[in-house]
Formats: sequence, structure tokens, C-alpha cells
Amino acid sequence: MKKIQHALAKYWGYNDFLPLQKEAMSALNQGQDCILVLPTGGGKSLCYQAPAMAADGLAVVVSPLISLMKDQVDALVECGVSAMRLDSSMSAGEQKETIDSIRQGAVKLLYLSPERLLTDGFLNLLKETKLAYFAIDEAHCVSMWGHDFRPEYRQLSRLRELFPDVAIAAYTATATQQVRNDIGIQLRLKQPETLVGSFDRPNLSYTIRPCTKLLSQVRSVMDRHKGESGIIYCIRRKDVDELCAALHSHGYKVAPYHAGMDADKRKRNQDRFINEKVDTIVATIAFGMGIDKSNVRYVIHTGMPKSLEHYQQESGRAGRDRLEAECCMFYSGADYGIWKFLMKDMPAEAYDIALNKLNDMYAFCTSASCRHETIVRYFGQTLEKENCAACDVCLGDMETIDDALIVAQKILSCVVRLEQQFGSQYTAQVLTGSKDKRIQENNHDKLSTYALLSDLKMKVVQNWIEQLVGQGYLEKYGEYNQLRVTEKGRAVLKGEKTPRLLKPAEKKSTYAPKSAAQSWEGVDGGLFEELRAFRKREAAEKGVPPFVIFGDATLRELAKIRPSTSQKLMGVRLR
Ligand code: ADP
Repeated sequence: MKKIQHALAKYWGYNDFLPLQKEAMSALNQGQDCILVLPTGGGKSLCYQAPAMAADGLAVVVSPLISLMKDQVDALVECGVSAMRLDSSMSAGEQKETIDSIRQGAVKLLYLSPERLLTDGFLNLLKETKLAYFAIDEAHCVSMWGHDFRPEYRQLSRLRELFPDVAIAAYTATATQQVRNDIGIQLRLKQPETLVGSFDRPNLSYTIRPCTKLLSQVRSVMDRHKGESGIIYCIRRKDVDELCAALHSHGYKVAPYHAGMDADKRKRNQDRFINEKVDTIVATIAFGMGIDKSNVRYVIHTGMPKSLEHYQQESGRAGRDRLEAECCMFYSGADYGIWKFLMKDMPAEAYDIALNKLNDMYAFCTSASCRHETIVRYFGQTLEKENCAACDVCLGDMETIDDALIVAQKILSCVVRLEQQFGSQYTAQVLTGSKDKRIQENNHDKLSTYALLSDLKMKVVQNWIEQLVGQGYLEKYGEYNQLRVTEKGRAVLKGEKTPRLLKPAEKKSTYAPKSAAQSWEGVDGGLFEELRAFRKREAAEKGVPPFVIFGDATLRELAKIRPSTSQKLMGVRLR
């Protein structure tokens, strides 16, 4: 471990370990298999990078994406580590150069995809090479229970058979107990040291709101982060293009990213974002894996993701530098319908898994429980704090209506009167007294519950219906998401239980987690901006992304302490 600690200081400038890093590195150092589960920003990469510097032989890192490998290898080379990669984007000459370096034993860390690793030619080369260990990044891709199953990852089970004596370590930011077990089984790990860090990201603040006026909701978040980097996720490509155009017309510097764009344009936009030529990227979930830009200050979801794993991973791209960052989601009931529609052709088993995840996600949106606590609980952990002080619920940013019991009873009775045969939109139309032809044809304008909530907007009522679904008083079934009253819902009808319904009018966000004020305390804002400009120039000159030069935390500390001697400069935190 001494050698590893020395390498940590020499190549990365770190004097301490982050939680579980020491244990994870020590397992590899002793040749033991390991599963490390740490949230994004927890410092997983270092756990397979640093031990390579102390090991005898080549450390092979399996990674699913070229962009991910490229960024990591660039950053390692910048630190003076002999890291290389092998992927299809490289010319034949470059690939030969890497292979020659491996043969000469000049490479410490090699990054490549699972497909590439498992080619016969490459396996033969590895057979002749002294190996330190295999590190499998994004290891949840091996499990069907996870949210990003990749069949090519399954083939990695061959490694154990082919290299029985080489340790295999698996790394992921997102794994429920089930996924964790499956990783061990699929990769045939031998009594792996299983290390699971806390899933809580205290530096992230969460705000989840129904989508009312999307453009102004998005703009109000962006306006709180002028000149800072952010990611905006949309469900569909069309939404990306439309939102981008709208933001452009209001003068925001944004770039689109989705799988429907040609590869060159997509790559260019990704680079513009990473190199801070644009502040914000508007994207589908095609964007993100492998982006380790550390200073993303906000992530906005303009629709609901299909699982809490997705949400945790996408929102988790904010604040990797552990400085405060904001995650906002604007969801609507329609998002649930879109995902359910997209899932309809899945095989039965996969469909059931996906639907459960979707229901959990929806319940998260519509509930009024602490967001940090809910996420952590989803991953099988508990949050020690009573009040996280960093989510809309705990900050008291959500207002509930006083007459929730009566309103909920009106809604539930209407569902009963409609013989539990209709969806949320139709039910809301009946409740608000819509003159829709279908309602008249069905004689539903004659129901006693017709127009019971006619003083409210249809969208508001529909949203409450969704909240009742989220809290388990109503459930959706069938192809058309028809509503029916649950056991819990019947208790509401009898007045034995009171649901929580959120006030419709959007309250101005009081987003002000304590950590934000603290981490800017004493920082000279003007100097910080000048240092940012310096970092950008320096990065352009070296051809690397700005965050590879210095993290925001370093710049803030420089702008706070204003070191005047090299000794003081050496005391500034590095990332
Ligand atoms: P992950 O892969 O888990 O998302 P990273 O490996 O990208 O996390 O690390 C997140 C950030 O933490 C990076 O900026 C990294 O440089 C920093 N970091 C990692 N280990 C340490 C350490 N021991 N001390 C200080 N900073 C660290």
C-alpha cells in the first residue's frame, strides 16, 4: 500500500483516500476479486488506476464507451501515467503502436471495450503478457436486472476461465442488491470483497416539480447558473431540437446532442461542451456516460426518466467535484404513458422489471418525502439525517393543499363512478366539467361527480390524480392506463387516511442549500472568473478539457486564499 500511496501523491497530487478507496485498492493489491459500488464522483477510477502503478504487469480496464476511455487516458497521460487505449476510432498505425508498447511491457494501464478484449488475437497477446488485474468499469452492464444491460458484457464471464489467476474487479455507480449479486455471478468472481459506499450525494440539491410552463421553468434554473455548465435531459430527440431552438432564441448558449444527429456533429457538440465553448448541452440520455466533466453545476430533466437508477446516474453527473450543484426535474403524467408505450414490445420478464422501475420512479416524483432519503432507500441504505437541507421537500419548498382529503375523495369517487374504466386525462376532464364530445356521448356529463372540480384547470386535477397514483391510492392498469381505486384508496373514501396533494401554483424556488453559501465564502468572484479564463486558455493550448487542468474547487480556493508564495500555492486542494 505504501507504493500506491506514493503513486497517489506523485501522479495525482492526493494525500488522502476518499471513503472505501483504500479498501478497494488494497483488495486489488492482494490479488483479490472485488466489487466496488460508489456513486458518481466517489472516486472509482482511481481505485483501478493507482494500484496499477504499484503492480507488476499490465492492468486491463474494460469500458463500454470510446469517449470514456479517451478522456481517462488523456487525463492519465497528463498526470504522467503510461496509459493507452485500443479502440476502433484509432488508425491501424496507432493500434500497432499500442500493441508494440504492450509487448515491450511499457504500458501500465490499457483501456478497451469488451468486444475488443475478447477477440482471439487480443486474448493471445494477453496470454503472453504479464497481467496485474482486470478492472470492469460500468459493471452493471453485465446484469439484466440493471438499467443498462449490454449483451457483450455477458461474454466477460470467459475471463475467469481464460485467466483463472488474475484478479477481476467490478466498478459501478448504480447497483441494487440484486444487480450486485448478479455482477458477482456473471463475472464468476471468487468471494469478492464487496464494498458499497453511501449513495447519498449531499452536495446535490433536488427539486422535482410538475411540468407547467417548461420553457420558463428551465430558464429560471439556467438563470441561477449564468456562465456555468449544465446538462438538460429530454426524453425525445424532437424535444431536444425544440428546446434548443427556443433557448437559442432567448440568447442562451446551448448545443443539442442526440442519436439522430450525425456522429461528427454530435462529437463536435460534446467537445464544445467539455471545452466550455457552450455552457449547456440539451440531450437525450444518449449523452453522458463517459463524460467526467467535474464542474457541471446543474442537471435539468424536462421529463421523467424511466427508472430511479437512470435518474440517479443522470442527475449524478452534476457536481462530481463535490461542490454544490442543482438537480431539477419537471415531470408530467404523460411521461409515464410515453415510457409505458415504448416498453410494450419487451419480453414479459424484462417488461415486468421495467414496469416496476417505472412505477418506483413515478412514485418518487409525486411523493412528498425527502428526495435524498428516497434515493438512498431505493438502493437499500438509510439516511442518517432527519432533514437533508438540500431538497424541495426538506427545504419546505413544496406547499400542500389544506383540503386534500375532500379533493381526493372527489377524485376517487369519480373514478368509481366511471366504473374504473378510464385514464387520468379523461377522469380529470369529467371532474372539471369538460364539454368534450366523448364525455357527452358516454353520458358522463350526467354523473354526480361531473364538474365537481370545475373551478380548477384540467392539468391541475390530472396532476393530483398522478400524485394519488404515486402515493398508492389509485393504480393504473391495462393497455390504456385505466385507473382503479386501491385498498389504501378505499380508506380515503371512508375518511380514514389523508393523502398529500401539492399546491398547483409554482412557488418561486428558494433554492439555497447551505453548502452553496459556504463554499463561496471569501471567494473573490472576479478573480475566480479570471482564473477560469486562464484555465480555458491553458486547456486549449494543451488540447485537453479545462477540468483536466484544474477543478472548480481548486480555482475557488485560489481565488479565496490568493497564495503569494509557492509554499502557500502547494497547500491548495488539487481537485
Ligand atoms: P467516479 O468514477 O466514481 O465517478 P472519479 O474517479 O471521476 O469518480 O472521481 C471524482 C473526482 O474525485 C475526480 O475529480 C477525482 O480527481 C477526484 N478524486 C478521486 N480520488 C481522490 C482523492 N483520493 N482525493 C481527492 N480527490 C479525488
